[in-house]
Amino acid sequence: MSAHEEINLTVSSFAALGLSETLQRALAKTGYDTPTPIQSGAIPPLLDGRDLLGVAQTGTGKTAAFVLPLLQRLDGDRRHPIARSTRALILTPTRELATQIAASVDRYGRNGRLRAAVIIGGVNMRAQIAALERGVDILIATPGRLIDLVERRKVQLARADYLVIDEADRMLDIGFIRDIRAIARLLPATRQTMLFSATMPGEIVKLGKEILTDPVRVEIAAKTVAVDRIDQQLRFADSGAKRQLLDDLLTDADLSRVIVFTRTKRGADRVATQLARTGVKATAMHGDKSQAARDKALDSFRAGRSRVLVATDVAARGIDVDGVSHVINYELPTDPESYVHRIGRTARAGADGVAISFCAPGEHEQLRGIERLLKRRLTVVGAAPDTRADEGHGDRRPAGRPRQRRRRRAA
Ligand code: AMP
Repeated sequence: MSAHEEINLTVSSFAALGLSETLQRALAKTGYDTPTPIQSGAIPPLLDGRDLLGVAQTGTGKTAAFVLPLLQRLDGDRRHPIARSTRALILTPTRELATQIAASVDRYGRNGRLRAAVIIGGVNMRAQIAALERGVDILIATPGRLIDLVERRKVQLARADYLVIDEADRMLDIGFIRDIRAIARLLPATRQTMLFSATMPGEIVKLGKEILTDPVRVEIAAKTVAVDRIDQQLRFADSGAKRQLLDDLLTDADLSRVIVFTRTKRGADRVATQLARTGVKATAMHGDKSQAARDKALDSFRAGRSRVLVATDVAARGIDVDGVSHVINYELPTDPESYVHRIGRTARAGADGVAISFCAPGEHEQLRGIERLLKRRLTVVGAAPDTRADEGHGDRRPAGRPRQRRRRRAA
């Protein structure tokens, strides 16, 4: 990854990026008239066949940034896929993300003749095998099931000219990184490769060096994308007081579409059950639920039938729901990057949003990590505990109050 270029253009139209009229029409139908920064930066070099390292989180429009050039390039080269093979492979960490990418492919590629298939775990294999039989142009897959099908010789990757790895840092979290390396080795070395990651931990930098050739780097700083537009509030509360705090917050109708994050799957179930008991329509979504149950939870949230979705980090990856008014961190995540991912569920594609984080006495370490990453303090609403002063947080004070009127003790 030697001399990569930093691209930071803002282009005002999809036509100027070099996208075909067919795709421009599809975009216009979807209601998108202006490319997002990641799209402006990524689409031209991708149309030119360059490898790409995209540092951008969900919510920046990164899916279209790789799907659009991929569709155009595949469509411009009318080779038919051969049986049990694919011309392009998109790897994603979660089933939800795979389904959403498939929806994008379908939306933008509707006018074309390209065939796509989705290969994810947790559902019956037979339909997936049947879909691969004639060969596909685009295969969207989670790594585990894909490797399974490769080993069963139901699909081979030696004809894939395009490889997209989406949310690479999350793949690392889930433990998929070895699978990714193994899969990349099955594709031709001459392929075009795109690697997307919200953050760049050392292991992802290393992966990039291995699988990308002379890539263009497009970086959308997380703080300019979402964080700045989100009203980030911090509320100190003992673990035992969080439940009441959540109930109180939800009496405000402004919290119309809310994602509550918990650290554990059991925590997610517990919070959802408690909310349901108080008459709030809530559903839980986490990795222990069947695919059907997760789809159902997400559909119900998307359609507005449940007001609150309670989710864990992994399950929430790639959730693409418009109009999320509030994200509530019932517990702070252990890694600060997850905080950015979580709050990025609100303020998507130009909208503003509110993120409220609950912090118990045992979570100050996580809070410090988050504030270090953001390079700023979260705004305290309500009371701030005294201990903050001892921890070098002496200038912490409730939002909108002059310093001398600071309240001293948590209730
Ligand atoms: P993504 O980061 O790919 O998950 O996309 C985030 C959201 O932005 C999705 O709801 C997209 O449908 C939407 N989106 C993508 N590109 C644009 C665009 N150019 N203008 C407006 N919305 C967009």
